[in-house]
Amino acid sequence: MASVDIQNLRKSYADLKILKDVSLSVPDGAFVVLVGPSGCGKSTLLRMIAGLEDINGGTISIDGKVINDVEPKHRDIAMVFQNYALYPHMTIAENMGFSLRLARRPKAEIAARVDEAARILGLSAYLDRFPKQLSGGQRQRVAMGRAIVRSPKVFLFDEPLSNLDAMLRVQMRAELKELHARLKTTMIYVTHDQIEAMTMADVIVVMREGIVEQVGRPLELYDNPANLFVASFIGSPAMNFLKGTIETEGAVQHFLTEDGTKWPVNAVAAGAVNGRGVTYGIRPEQFVVATAQGHIEATIKMIEPTGSETHIVAMVGAVQIVVLLRERLDARPGDTIKLDLKPGAGHIFDTESGVAIA
Ligand code: ADP
Ligand code: MG
Repeated sequence: MASVDIQNLRKSYADLKILKDVSLSVPDGAFVVLVGPSGCGKSTLLRMIAGLEDINGGTISIDGKVINDVEPKHRDIAMVFQNYALYPHMTIAENMGFSLRLARRPKAEIAARVDEAARILGLSAYLDRFPKQLSGGQRQRVAMGRAIVRSPKVFLFDEPLSNLDAMLRVQMRAELKELHARLKTTMIYVTHDQIEAMTMADVIVVMREGIVEQVGRPLELYDNPANLFVASFIGSPAMNFLKGTIETEGAVQHFLTEDGTKWPVNAVAAGAVNGRGVTYGIRPEQFVVATAQGHIEATIKMIEPTGSETHIVAMVGAVQIVVLLRERLDARPGDTIKLDLKPGAGHIFDTESGVAIA
């Protein structure tokens, strides 16, 4: 068990800045997910924590001790990669015990630790098999087993589920969460998949182009994205974004799109937005069918009943929106529906800076 503290971390390859001043605090026992688009520096950051990349600036500490110059094998960190990299000629038991054998642990201890990890991961029946005799999910579990046998202070996972099919990914997500609940070891998990981040993390760290955009619990990020990037990255289907301005007419404020459609807004600080270009963000599920007079008149382009919910693509003036309704709707393309926003719905961002306006 250990806390990981990263201060002003920097990394460049030649004059290409990969990490630009990353600071991050991972409490002891937390499950922290680093999420961001491909190429934003997630693997680089993880590899620096593991000691596989050198550091150009800043510090990485474990339990308050700076480990910048500590050899990888003395950091007591285990990393699980996307490609499981199992040794094909070794059995599952040999694969899982390999690092302990390298460390010259006694045979009986290795066997006991491998048995325990296999039990936790449901691999006990497969210990004598070879990797090619296992399914993708089982191989991924072996890769985790190889990390577990070492009882490290910190687990690092780099997109460990990316090679699995969709159903298995969902199952393994749950297994990993269970594993964390059982081991209570600090875990830092990297993914480009925001759903994975939302479902697994205690805390999510959203990265873009070598910087941290926002840190928070999953629903904090969902409900209060700090900027347009986080708002667009978190949530599926994605938030709708409309460009325009906030107009004040007497006591009433509304949002005016560039093509002249008026939208209702919840309380906004008038002084902060008047005249400024703003982007109005509305999540698909923040719409409701208006019971009386709808504020928003939308023409349906596409409607998909899924049974549990209804997905709609519709036009409001020249703006296309995606709407997600909990109920069924008897409508077809070309029909007009009246929509309203749920109380408290909507996010307003400064268009130029992308920063959320309170
Ligand atoms: P992510 O894991 O978020 O997809 P990476 O950390 O793998 O991103 O890479 C971040 C950026 O660093 C990418 O643009 C990548 O091309 C670059 N990069 C990674 N390793 C090297 C290297 N050894 N030399 C040069 N550039 C690299
Ligand atoms: Mg990567």
